[in-house]
This record gives sequence, structure tokens and C-alpha cells, in this order.
Amino acid sequence: MPAEIDVAIIGAGVIGLATAREIAQRGKEVFVFEKNRTFGLETSSRNSEVIHAGIYYPEDSLKAKLCVEGKNLLYELCSKHNITYRKSGKIVVAVDESDIDWLEQLYEQGRRNGVDDLVLLSQVEVKKLEPNIEARAGLLSPSSGIFDSHSLLKFLYDQAREEGAAFVFGTEVIGIERAGTKYKVLIKDRDGTSAFIAHIVVNCAGLNSDRIAQLAGIDIVKAGYRLHYCKGEYFSLNSKYRNIVRKLIYPTPDQAGHGIHWRQALDGRVLLGPSARYVEAIDYAVDETHKQHFYDSAKKFLPFVALEDLAPESAGIRPKLQGPGEPFRDFVIAHEEKAGFPSLINLVGIESPGLTAALAIARYVGKMMS
Ligand SMILES: Cc1cc2nc3c(=O)[nH]c(=O)nc-3n(C[C@H](O)[C@H](O)[C@H](O)COP(=O)(O)OP(=O)(O)OC[C@H]3O[C@@H](n4cnc5c(N)ncnc54)[C@H](O)[C@@H]3O)c2cc1C
Repeated sequence: MPAEIDVAIIGAGVIGLATAREIAQRGKEVFVFEKNRTFGLETSSRNSEVIHAGIYYPEDSLKAKLCVEGKNLLYELCSKHNITYRKSGKIVVAVDESDIDWLEQLYEQGRRNGVDDLVLLSQVEVKKLEPNIEARAGLLSPSSGIFDSHSLLKFLYDQAREEGAAFVFGTEVIGIERAGTKYKVLIKDRDGTSAFIAHIVVNCAGLNSDRIAQLAGIDIVKAGYRLHYCKGEYFSLNSKYRNIVRKLIYPTPDQAGHGIHWRQALDGRVLLGPSARYVEAIDYAVDETHKQHFYDSAKKFLPFVALEDLAPESAGIRPKLQGPGEPFRDFVIAHEEKAGFPSLINLVGIESPGLTAALAIARYVGKMMS
């Protein structure tokens, strides 16, 4: 490890990996520091693997723009490099009359965001596409799909390395001090602590990204960077449910998430989730007592589901900028020069659709540096 490097990226989730690849391709020297033993062990491997169309977010938000751009880049990359995906399409369903207005708003929002293939469906049209689901109406999003996110992570890692990026695993960033226009970065690994100088620091630390910004000297309360953890659990359905419904089926979204949805994974497993519950600590255990809640949510549009067929599966945690009941917050992707921190780029609150948007986020960060 040299005493002085060009770019230090903190975190090797999908955002750190995609950013490392992008910056290395632009000819810079890049080191990625990851506290875990390898890449992609946190939120990037604990999600729905859905390629979102970009319909949920206010127009001109980074979430909307980078989701739509990222979706196209992701499909292109998956096709070109044989990463498995299925452009299954998705239906957002209205389970009662009051949801229909919501669907119409979602349709308009999607169109404003540049998603121009959306189709509003009547009750009969929903039945024609998916005979086994129950809905008063639907919104079809043909460009939504699922993909093999683990293969994407591996691909980005391999490509970043081919482009010259170096990965330092089992190494936690524990301090960031200003050294003129550069930064002295303190790291801890199993041999102890050490430090190096980085010309540019890029914070892709996911659930820790607010704390990393704070370590660098940002007042995270004033900046609005404090994260709230919002847990999403999944339950699986047994194998008799395979191929009953082929598309992704979502209810109208709730405040903290996209709602508990139906998804048949690429390996055939059928999953319900994620739920959305604010928590204080990171804990990935699935609480079996939440089964009834999953059943009650799913039953509204998946009438064939039986309570005894649900089993706890997995969980992930959203790094949310908005606390319970608070309004929409966008991704923070900020060059902190104006805040008095030259050469520091913070990515905070990269929750859904972060996986879909990853390639576009990396491009956005790459442009910030040039
Ligand atoms: C339940 C759930 C479902 C989701 N579903 C979808 C979906 O279907 N589609 C979609 O587009 N998005 C989805 N998302 C969002 C998506 O998963 C995230 O936006 C994305 O994975 C974030 O990637 P990341 O690299 O920022 O974070 P992470 O994957 O968490 O990576 C951050 C990395 O930083 C490392 N790190 C942290 N602190 C330090 C430190 N001090 N030193 C060194 N390393 C450090 C961590 O160990 C970690 O590896 C979902 C999220 C959740 C929780």
C-alpha cells in the first residue's frame, strides 16, 4: 500500500464497485477499502434484485433520473456480458377503489420521468395477463425485471481490477483528517492501524455513509445526512407456488417502501417482501411472528396464498434519509467543495433504486471528478 494514492473509495458494495470501475476506466489510480472479507456482503446482496423502471420518484430527482438511465445501462450490460436477467414486466395493483387514483398518479409520474411504456389496465385486462391475481385495476410496467445481482457484483469487481483498481479487504476506515487539499485516511486491519494520504475520498459506505461523512468533519445533522435504518424482511412460499404468477406484482406503495410484493426469483423461488420497519440496530434475523402481516398484505391481491406455506427467508436494511412519516428524500451524491471539503464526495442514503441506478450513479460520480 503506497503512502500516497489518487482516489480512495470507502465500501465495496455495488456503488463502490461500479464507481471503482468507472474511475479506473478514466485512468485514475483507485484503491477500494472494505471492512468485510470480500465485496458485496451487505445491502447489495440483501435486496429484491428488481430492475426498477423509475416510476415512483419525483421528476428531476436523482432517484428518477439515475434509475431510468441506470435501468437502460444495466439491461445493456447484462445482455452484453451474459448476466442472467428476465424482463418480466411488473403490475402495480389497485386492491380497492381508492387505489385507482394512486395508479393514475403513478402512471403520470412515470411518464414525467421518461418511462413511456406504462399501460393502465382495467380489472379484465389484469385478469387476462395474470389470471390468478385479484385487482380492481393495474399499472403495467413492461421495462421492470429481475436480474442476477451477485453476477453483476462479480463482474464489476473483475472489471475494476482489470482496469487497475486495487481492493483492500478486511480493512475499516476509522478516521479521515484534512491534510491541505488532501486527506489523511486512517485504517484498521487485523495487524493494527495505519494511515495514508488520498487526493480524493469517495464515501460509498452504505449503512455507514453518514458516519464516514461525520469522520471527515461534516456536520451531518446540519447537512441532513443522518441515516435511519429501515428493515425489510422477506418470506418465501413453497414450491407449489412456482409459475402461478410470472410478472412482478406490487401493491400501491407505502410510505417507507414499495410495498410487500410477489417475485419469482431467477432460480424459481417465490418470495414475498420486503416489509418496511424502522429499527435502531443492524440485525438481519427474520421475525417469524411477522408472518401474519405478510399473509394479510399478500392475501389482498394473491387470494390463493395460504398462511402455512410462508417461511422466513432473509432481510436487508435500507439506509434511509427520511425518518418515519417524513417526506421524500433524494439520494445525496455531493461534492463537498462548497461545504469546505475539497476532494470529498459523499454518497449517502443510497437506498432503492440504488442497485438499478448503480451504473448511472458511477457515471455521475465520474463526471464530478473530471
Ligand atoms: C430490502 C431491500 C430491497 C431492495 N431492493 C432493491 C431492488 O429490488 N432494486 C434496486 O434497485 N434496489 C434495491 N434496494 C437498494 C439497493 O440494494 C441499495 O441501494 C444498494 O445495494 C446500495 O449499495 P451500496 O454499495 O451503497 O451499499 P452496501 O452494499 O451496503 O455497501 C457498502 C459497503 O461499505 C462497507 N463499509 C461501510 N463502512 C465502512 C468502513 N468504515 N470502512 C470500510 N468499508 C466500509 C460495507 O462493509 C459495505 O460492504 C433494496 C434495498 C433493501 C434494503
